[in-house]
Amino acid sequence: MTTYTIINPTTAKPVQEIHLADIFETDVIIEKAARAFASWRLVAPGDRAKLLRKFAAVVEAHTEELAQLEVLNSGHTIGNARWEAGNVVNVLNYYSASPERLFGRQIPVPNGIDITFKEPLGVIGIIVPWNFPMPIAGWGFGPALAAGNTVVLKPAEVTPLTAIRLAELALEAGIPEGVFNVIPGKGSVVGERFVTHPAVRKIVFTGSTTVGKHIMQGCANQVKRLTLELGGKSANIIFDDADIEKAAANAPGAVFDNAGQDCCARSRILVQKNVYEKFMEHFEVAVKAFRVEDPANESAEMGPLITAAHLARVQEYVPSGAPIAFQGTKPEGDGFWFAPTVLAHTNLEDRAYREEIFGPVVSVVPFTDEDDAIRIANDSEFGLSGSIWSRDIGRAVRVSRGVEAGNLSVNSNSSVRYWTPFGGYKQSGLGRELGPDALDAFTETKNVFFDTQN
Ligand code: NAD
Repeated sequence: MTTYTIINPTTAKPVQEIHLADIFETDVIIEKAARAFASWRLVAPGDRAKLLRKFAAVVEAHTEELAQLEVLNSGHTIGNARWEAGNVVNVLNYYSASPERLFGRQIPVPNGIDITFKEPLGVIGIIVPWNFPMPIAGWGFGPALAAGNTVVLKPAEVTPLTAIRLAELALEAGIPEGVFNVIPGKGSVVGERFVTHPAVRKIVFTGSTTVGKHIMQGCANQVKRLTLELGGKSANIIFDDADIEKAAANAPGAVFDNAGQDCCARSRILVQKNVYEKFMEHFEVAVKAFRVEDPANESAEMGPLITAAHLARVQEYVPSGAPIAFQGTKPEGDGFWFAPTVLAHTNLEDRAYREEIFGPVVSVVPFTDEDDAIRIANDSEFGLSGSIWSRDIGRAVRVSRGVEAGNLSVNSNSSVRYWTPFGGYKQSGLGRELGPDALDAFTETKNVFFDTQN
């Protein structure tokens, strides 16, 4: 029997042993989900909606427990972890409105009536990374279940605790056995099996671009439906007409939140040349004041990195001699701590500038004008997120249209709102999650023609 020892990233101490499923156990659960699909898809829309609202209510009643579990397992700040549990509640409530609104169309045709139906796909395989275990799971299972699919979900090896608890809460809420299944296990075993098992009709994968490409190749064998949410190297673009103090005060949170382990992290800050010095002065004050401490503290703004191995990986991007402009602070102790680090590059071919570090490291680069800012922002294989700071509305619109990224914000650094679509350009992903259209990604359009001439 294979097990994995969960380590608390704040203390580096073991928390719990988790059984990792093998391929046979995975098959048993996939087949159970396939059987449950036969009846779940037929649950009356209003009843499915009620069950999702009940699931949301039960999760809401356990917000604090789930949040504490995430602090323990993932080292997230308690404030973030509460938001993450709340996001699952919001997503479930939002998509609980869908079963009763899963409209098809009646299309005018000669000699008959034509109707489209939105049919569920079957079993959906959701593969989740370790950086936001609860929200990313919910973005998949919320709309998937609402559309009448059943779900098998694999959390990341290192962060399965909240997903396991969510599956228990689903049962408590009355979601029938077999409809929502969580299978802790290795990507190379459970995740691969989702891709190769013919009963799994769609994969929702969030994780690294490398694994995403591998999964895409695997899905091709069965023309399996696929949504990919992958890496990022997003730009935070600050123009000279912006509120520079505000942009600088907000910039640490935009990249160091969740210790930089955020696909939307604004890990490249582009600043117009004539305000570069002013921005850096304010930014330095904000970075040094950013509270990196025990994530269980209410005041914590950043906790540790997820594992010792990831800490070592992040460290490699900041070797001795790296162009460090300044750094924030970090606590002493056994956890996987890395101080917020600001790099001022002159060589834009540096690995640290081009690759997704997924840690609290940001590069700051000057630009001359609008075209230069767009050119630098787009000079990346990624295109997930980004911010534009300017008081000139025309400029903000032009630059928003010019930057190749799926989720932008103007005079703000927020990326995720469950009401709006989320996803990436280029190698940041394929398809969109959340928002009003997410159900399209979990249904097939079926067209039926009724001949009225016979
Ligand atoms: P990862 O790709 O290593 O793992 C992600 C998941 O895939 C894990 O559950 C893992 O077990 C599984 N997996 C690994 N190999 C597999 C295989 N061969 N077949 C099937 N499944 C497999 O990524 P990670 O290190 O856990 O997460 C960090 C990455 O996720 C970053 O690149 C980040 O940008 C990305 N991410 C993207 C988004 C987004 O929405 N675009 C959100 C969060 C994280």
